[in-house]
Amino acid sequence: MDDNLMDKIVSLCKRRGFIFQSSDIYGGLSNTWDYGPYGVELKNNLKRCWWKSVVYERDDIFGLDAAILMHPKVWEASGHVQNFFDLKSDCKSCKKRFKTADLKDAKKCPECGGELTGSRPFNLMFKTYQGPVEDATNVIYLRPETAQGMFVNFLNILDSKHPKLPFGMAQIGKAFRNEITPGNFTFRTREFEQMEIEYFVKPAEADKFYELWVNERFDWYLKLGIKKEGLRRRPHGKEELAHYAKSCTDIEYNFPFGWSELEGIANRTDFDLKQHAQAIGRDLVYFDDVAKEKFYPYIIEPSGGVDRSVLAFLVNAYHEEKVKEETRVVLKLHPALAPIKVAVLPLLKNRPQLVELARKIAQDLKKSFVTVYDDTAAIGKLYRRQDEVGTLYCVTIDVQSLEDNQVTVRDRDTMKQDRIPLDRLKEYLETRLIN
Ligand code: ATP
Repeated sequence: MDDNLMDKIVSLCKRRGFIFQSSDIYGGLSNTWDYGPYGVELKNNLKRCWWKSVVYERDDIFGLDAAILMHPKVWEASGHVQNFFDLKSDCKSCKKRFKTADLKDAKKCPECGGELTGSRPFNLMFKTYQGPVEDATNVIYLRPETAQGMFVNFLNILDSKHPKLPFGMAQIGKAFRNEITPGNFTFRTREFEQMEIEYFVKPAEADKFYELWVNERFDWYLKLGIKKEGLRRRPHGKEELAHYAKSCTDIEYNFPFGWSELEGIANRTDFDLKQHAQAIGRDLVYFDDVAKEKFYPYIIEPSGGVDRSVLAFLVNAYHEEKVKEETRVVLKLHPALAPIKVAVLPLLKNRPQLVELARKIAQDLKKSFVTVYDDTAAIGKLYRRQDEVGTLYCVTIDVQSLEDNQVTVRDRDTMKQDRIPLDRLKEYLETRLIN
């Protein structure tokens, strides 16, 4: 792997408008990122693909969009107030803070060699106050996971949708963790987005569905183009399991900084529903009307990060190729993920008729595909720009087009060019782009 790959990706993301440092003009807020025009398209496409595969293409999973702010008792019942912490050590000299688990020597500061404090628990939840009074009774948290929003809606889904087991809920949304050591670009941040499923099953079937979901989620990344050799499953050892999990497997991607988690699939047992039931003094059970029995379902949770996936797809798509002694940088993103599907590029911008035709073609195509029009440089440069952001097809309009009503369509990956009559252009693109 190219040693400078991360630097190249960070630089491309800024240069081309995928991802910017947050609050850039103020010197930036460290480890916080804004998605620019192409980044937001890529991220939305990724979320759409996930939603399509887990909600629209199934009939047993319901979508949800729960609030970020939740009753503070949720986080007591879930165990987050008690258990959601990392151990930290502080340097007595330079005052830097470290995650104890990352330290080679628990006594010595890795930066300045100073003495470290003993390790102390540090709760990762962001705390704030609801309403104008800043006192202990008004403490509220920014959710550290979207999952709890689904557990607390379990009865609402039972009462409104009357589903039979197995069934699930899915949601995408922001989560916040006051990470001690964020870093690696968008890989570990304090504000991030999750895509989570809570799948409710009969306890006896939990192991079966756990395996199914590990495979299902693994295949989803492959289907969207992640190379097989860059993806692996890593089952957790017992000592690594979160307080709520009976088993967990991470799906890891081989990032330039090493194998790291993209998504975790956990068997959360009946822990969450029982905890909330105990806290509210009311059953949160499922009634099986065939067996005529009530019980707490088990929950299988595939929990992925949107930002980490976006980063993995960017790394996976980045290619440098030699074309006629020059390096072509191209993002070979899956067609469903590519931010821009079509670019319309007039070969000459000083011919009003040609520009007018090109603009009209772009305007027509915009109704069907995400299309951009660009005439601000010579064709070589225009192609380079589109390759770098992963645009699938470039349609060029030349002088000949004015006479024969044909345009040239260039394929991003093969660079092969086809001459297509204008009245067949939409159909030509449709057969290649609609998946
Ligand atoms: P890690 O071990 O990397 O801290 P985790 O096991 O705590 O992650 P989970 O609680 O399983 O993560 O969260 C589910 C998913 O949410 C992760 O697989 C990851 O994709 C995403 N995620 C978690 N923490 C962050 C973060 N700080 N920044 C970006 N994404 C995150």
